[in-house]
Amino acid sequence: MAEEPAVSAFHIMAKPTGAACNLNCRYCFYLRKQGLYPGSSFRMSDKVMESYIRQTIQAHQVPQVAIAWQGGEPTLMGLEFFRRAIDCQKKHQRPGTVIQNSIQTNGILLDDPWCEFLRENRFLVGLSLDGPRPMHDAYRVDKAGEGTFDRVMRALRLLQKHRVDFNILATVHAANAERGLEVYRFFRDQAGAQFIQFIPIVERDNETGPRGSGEVADCSVRPEQYGRFLIAVFDEWVRRDVGRMFVVTFDGLLAAWAYGKSSLCVFHPTCGLDLALEHNGDLYSCDHFVEPERLLGNILEQPLAELVGSPAQRKFGRDKQDALPRYCRQCEFLFACNGECPKNRFIRTPDGEPGLNYLCAGLKAFFRHVDDPMRMMADLIRRNRPAAEVMRILAARDMPEASKPRSIAAWSLLQEGAGRRPGRNDPCPCGSGRKFKHCHGRPRDGKGGAL
Ligand code: SF4
Ligand code: SF4
Repeated sequence: MAEEPAVSAFHIMAKPTGAACNLNCRYCFYLRKQGLYPGSSFRMSDKVMESYIRQTIQAHQVPQVAIAWQGGEPTLMGLEFFRRAIDCQKKHQRPGTVIQNSIQTNGILLDDPWCEFLRENRFLVGLSLDGPRPMHDAYRVDKAGEGTFDRVMRALRLLQKHRVDFNILATVHAANAERGLEVYRFFRDQAGAQFIQFIPIVERDNETGPRGSGEVADCSVRPEQYGRFLIAVFDEWVRRDVGRMFVVTFDGLLAAWAYGKSSLCVFHPTCGLDLALEHNGDLYSCDHFVEPERLLGNILEQPLAELVGSPAQRKFGRDKQDALPRYCRQCEFLFACNGECPKNRFIRTPDGEPGLNYLCAGLKAFFRHVDDPMRMMADLIRRNRPAAEVMRILAARDMPEASKPRSIAAWSLLQEGAGRRPGRNDPCPCGSGRKFKHCHGRPRDGKGGAL
């Protein structure tokens, strides 16, 4: 059998403190992972850190290398650990490669020195914030059960003061799921954020992780709610903010409409290139599958590249596609959805086949709702035009018939949206009620077509 080619690029979320965190968010699936390492200090040694960095750089056959820090709460390692990590990157960096560090944090420990460091080393910071105070504080609490909204907003202002690149990571859960528009406007108008990522909370009441059984936990977003949340945000974004606000879910999906493949792992046909590294060097198939059955090995004992390209990991990646139920294979939105993340595939299809995604009903409603504007934006992109032009097209379309401007510019926008020219005897799209040939299709100067 022919050998499979080596993996040329991948993404590892390193968890230098394992599951240890200074907060106690009620929906956090990762806190329970401490049980995998009883008695551990939950601190990554410099030996593991250097091995992670050196091997990640060496294994990449592309010029961009992503080094990602996550948790638990990675800032608990202290600033000095990260200074050493940067020194280590400089030591192992190859000429022509660019290393991009990212760190996901709850923001509690950020201060001026931290922000200076993050800015100086061009970190991309993901800050966890779930919306206005009541929605954020519903689940994002400290060890004493106190809400953390004020402390996270303080961190956000510090990041802005120091001009650190950051995005908001907002989970969608029972307390904010029906308030999508409010949450989005809060991020845009009050927080001053430009990049937002929404993650649905789908948790089950069990101790074993995604593959265990158990009822869906109360904090979770319900499928239809998730659809409504995304639709509410999308409708605002697509009419006002394309090109100036960036919602990761929308951008990732737009790639599917434009090029046939999403850039987001949850909507990608296969998995396998987004792994998780625990504090002691144990490498797992994915952040959502840190469980004994998905342990690939330890990077101090086996080469990282070998683990990433191992048969077990390749099978994990392919399983996403191979395990799709027929219902998904026949879905009109398979190209965009691909059954979403396998961790959420625990319900049955209408005809009883297992393995349907819990969020399916909401996802499908959302895909159906955005299909038309997504097609418009995809078409613009393919013609090397800015996707932001969709806002003018939609504005022209949204106008009531009676008040549509009788201008050639408006007509042309309408036509761009529709993607066709009207026939001579068709009604004029300006809304006059006259035939196109007698209205905006009338020859100008008696010489030729007006448009
Ligand atoms: S299991 Fe889910 S989160 Fe992990 S790589 Fe696959 S789609 Fe992404
Ligand atoms: S929308 Fe539902 S049926 Fe369609 S691919 Fe996604 S999970 Fe499957």
